[in-house]
Amino acid sequence: VLEIRDLHKSYGALEVLKGVSLAAQKGDVVSLIGSSGSGKSTLLRCANLLEDSQQGDILFEGEPVSWRGIGPNRQPADRKQVTRIRTNLSMVFQQFNLWAHMTILQNVMEAPVSVLGEDRAEVETRARALLDKVGIGDKADAWPAQLSGGQQQRAAIARALAMQPRALLFDEPTSALDPELEQEVVRVIKALAEEGRTMIIVTHDMRLAADVSDHVIFLHQGLIEEEGPPDALFGAPRSERLQQFLSATV
Ligand code: ATP
Ligand code: MG
Repeated sequence: VLEIRDLHKSYGALEVLKGVSLAAQKGDVVSLIGSSGSGKSTLLRCANLLEDSQQGDILFEGEPVSWRGIGPNRQPADRKQVTRIRTNLSMVFQQFNLWAHMTILQNVMEAPVSVLGEDRAEVETRARALLDKVGIGDKADAWPAQLSGGQQQRAAIARALAMQPRALLFDEPTSALDPELEQEVVRVIKALAEEGRTMIIVTHDMRLAADVSDHVIFLHQGLIEEEGPPDALFGAPRSERLQQFLSATV
């Protein structure tokens, strides 16, 4: 679904990604772990073209992003392609970012209706089914502020799914939540993994990464320090930095 090859990204003189590659095949769950500032969020944002990058390739379903200009002047050349990629790689953020002036149902329906131009009645049926699926069907007509953090995050996941994306990108989906609310969201993510959804998950929750991932990537200062299946990465980490990171997080 998504392939990234040798991606480089700088903010001015600060080089945040120094040549990172990753691939997620259909049904894969890939987790990104690493210290604060290692570039995890930047990588996700570059992947769905919320951020520009200066070098390297991004391929969506085998189709390379076409660029105009080089280096610091590089930009995606094809607006339609950008829209196609963004709608197919739906993001779920740490802060749920629900629209406060819309009900939960309206939040879930908004993008399919106004961005994709889908039929309102069809979208509503799908939106209600998705809210049921994440366990908050009874909150359809509530306002975001009336929901707990865990419920808001589940609404945000339903909203991402409403776009019928090819993959979901999660950026620390549980780290703004209290431990008991975190589990509600973890359950939803595990159910999505079992359904065979393609997902890339940035997380500080090593348990979640170990439970759901097919592949785990440890980023350190903008480079992949170690990667592999979760058993190997968590059970027998080779790099000293990863060993240190893991002993600091448990
Ligand atoms: P965390 O675990 O804290 O979320 P992260 O791995 O997601 O960290 P990033 O948010 O990708 O890290 O940031 C990587 C580096 O890029 C940091 O040094 C950060 O300060 C810098 N950075 C991120 N966004 C910007 C920006 N918009 N402008 C300038 N620097 C930025
Ligand atoms: Mg981050």
